[in-house]
Amino acid sequence: MTDLDITALRERIEQRREAMVADLVSYASLETPSDDVDLLARGLEWIEHWLGRTVGPPAERRVHVVEGFGDTVTLEYPSPGGSTEWVSALCHYDTVWSEGTLAEWPVTIDGDHMTGPGVFDMKSGLIQLGHAMAASDALGLPRPGVRLLLNGDEEIGSLASRPAIEAEVSRGGAVLVFESAAEGAVKTARKGVGIFEVETFGVEVHAGLHPRSGASAVDEMARIILQLHGAADIDAGTSLNVGIVQGGTRTNVRAGHARASVDVRVTSADEVARVEAVFAALAPHDPLARVEVTGGWNRPPMERTEATAALYGRAAAVADSLGFELREVSVGGASDGNFAAALGCAVLDGVGGVGGGAHARHEWISLGGMVERTEFVAALFVELAQGSPAA
Ligand SMILES: [Zn+2]
Repeated sequence: MTDLDITALRERIEQRREAMVADLVSYASLETPSDDVDLLARGLEWIEHWLGRTVGPPAERRVHVVEGFGDTVTLEYPSPGGSTEWVSALCHYDTVWSEGTLAEWPVTIDGDHMTGPGVFDMKSGLIQLGHAMAASDALGLPRPGVRLLLNGDEEIGSLASRPAIEAEVSRGGAVLVFESAAEGAVKTARKGVGIFEVETFGVEVHAGLHPRSGASAVDEMARIILQLHGAADIDAGTSLNVGIVQGGTRTNVRAGHARASVDVRVTSADEVARVEAVFAALAPHDPLARVEVTGGWNRPPMERTEATAALYGRAAAVADSLGFELREVSVGGASDGNFAAALGCAVLDGVGGVGGGAHARHEWISLGGMVERTEFVAALFVELAQGSPAA
């Protein structure tokens, strides 16, 4: 990008600052909890109208419908300048906030801070993307085709949207995830997440009269918990947390049943295999007892592959040309970027809002950060429209 282009881009986005803030206030003033299909439909309708006004009509629209979940919509905006490059932009429109949250916690602006349900995770990301595309197209800057994916079930694991996400990112090109930044940094690695349920079954007898007979499900579970926690390797990035345990009925009965829920986080495919083997090997200590394992992996780990490192390098150079440093981090939480990375895509995650407090009652974004990252995305498009230097 020439200095002239950068100046023009800055001016344009600075002019649009108030409009961006107003757009985010409107969007965040619509509640879109993952489990409310009607509210999700209303939110999606607002988004598509807004995109139509801001960016223009998409050349293609594909919908993936699964009953009981918000629709997954893909909108294609081909390059106006004829670039044959494409990027996939992932934006979930659901939030963790239930209907009625806005009544107690309305969207509020105080100086550079905006707070409200979902402003950080991740409604600001979509607003920034839309305005970046609009500015880029208005100024005639090069940009790749943008395949924008909107899904409404990310906060509950993307069970319904996963096939659509995988199919869309497989069409090719870099994947930009408009989740919020981590203290300003993009995310080039994320842990994989598994939720496992372990059940133990014993044989109930009177604990006082027959202490040697029967079998205790609670005793089995206690041994299993030690085994699972022992399998963690925090240095390797692997954690296992038995967060919930239930079992037994009476103090004087050897327990017939116990249940534990386990959150597992891993950073590599090797650790996925090792942890799977740990669960597969769980066996009862007492031959009269039984162990059952259900559940499994929700998202595979997003590893920092060479392709992702190269994409980050290009993005960092773009940020540098705009005068700020773009750091990268590896985080424990998962996103839809994990699915794309597992398919071999180059993934840059955390391209969205700058602020803090995801999933917390005080989540907030910086309005200055919104302007800066919108400029950044438009400038990144200029870089990505040129294709990968290796290709
Ligand atoms: Zn999110």
